[in-house]
Amino acid sequence: MEREKELILKLDSLHRLETEEWEELIRCRDDDVAEFAAELARKHSREIFGNQIYTRGLIEISNYCKNNCYYCGIRRDNSSVERYRLTREQIIECAGIGYELGFRTFVLQGGEDGSFTDEFMCDVIGEIRKNHPDCAITLSLGERSEKSYRLMYEAGANRYLLRHETADSAHYRKLHPEEMSFENRIRCLYTLKEIGYQVGCGFMVGSPGQTESCLVKDMELITDLQPEMVGIGPFVPHHATPFAREPGGTVKQTLFLLSLIRILKPDVLLPATTALGTIDPKGREKGIMAGANVLMPNLSPTDYRKQYELYDNKICTGDEAAECRVCLANRVSAIGYEIVTSRGDAPGWTQK
Ligand code: SAH
Repeated sequence: MEREKELILKLDSLHRLETEEWEELIRCRDDDVAEFAAELARKHSREIFGNQIYTRGLIEISNYCKNNCYYCGIRRDNSSVERYRLTREQIIECAGIGYELGFRTFVLQGGEDGSFTDEFMCDVIGEIRKNHPDCAITLSLGERSEKSYRLMYEAGANRYLLRHETADSAHYRKLHPEEMSFENRIRCLYTLKEIGYQVGCGFMVGSPGQTESCLVKDMELITDLQPEMVGIGPFVPHHATPFAREPGGTVKQTLFLLSLIRILKPDVLLPATTALGTIDPKGREKGIMAGANVLMPNLSPTDYRKQYELYDNKICTGDEAAECRVCLANRVSAIGYEIVTSRGDAPGWTQK
């Protein structure tokens, strides 16, 4: 145990570890070590962000997807899901409602839906940018061409969330069908960064076939890419996918990894995810206590919430955006934090 604590302190001072050191640390299942990491992680998020929790209003713009990822509930071959796509007006209206509620970052997330052409996206982004010049616009629309990423950036988007899902190419193959490419996914992340987006990578904790050595590679990717954000949450099985009977990720491992990521990159934007809140009613609060500093409540119209079901039992599918806001404010204040109305950019960030 002393050895693992030493490694955590080494990570804290060097912001990197050797592969074997990561392996040793990630293998650790000791509660004392996890608490040691959480305390240090929390200390860093407190120093940098105070008791402030940033919120992002998530707008799930479509559940049509051309991809067939084995873990995902909105994969192409899931014929039991009713498909929807928000209109230009609905997306803009969601952002307007969110603005009134105090959100200053909107995340437009969706499956890889071919009808979201560059032209459509740039128009919507431009309109939101015009209506709310003080807001950040984040996209999470999967893999697109460099040209598309550039056009959307020029139209006013600021950030892009693209979880790499796993930094191990063999593991990537276990999670995705042949037609998807690990190299392309990683390349997209570097391209987005190069263009000037604040970039978020990330992965599911406990996804089928994930080993400690996969997680080591995830940590090394974060060390190399230096993303502004890292989104991690437990894998939660979805009943109508090939992984329906696989075990889900655990709260404990997710929390430990959140803490390690905070220590690796103290100023990173780190959400306590909805998936974590789904497998534990206090999951998001525990995430904050382990070093997370961001929450991403749902702003999608309630009529469609149930249809954007990436995994089973997803929480908050019945709540209005305003209710979510109040619920989260109460939850964070109960643990000594507060939700703030701010763009919540990465510390020191200046727009190119
Ligand atoms: N199409 C976009 C958005 C994907 S949905 C893209 O490719 O980036 C956002 C994230 O949800 C995914 O990146 C994945 O990590 C996560 N997710 C999907 N299915 C999940 C599941 N069964 N359990 C937990 N998280 C899941």
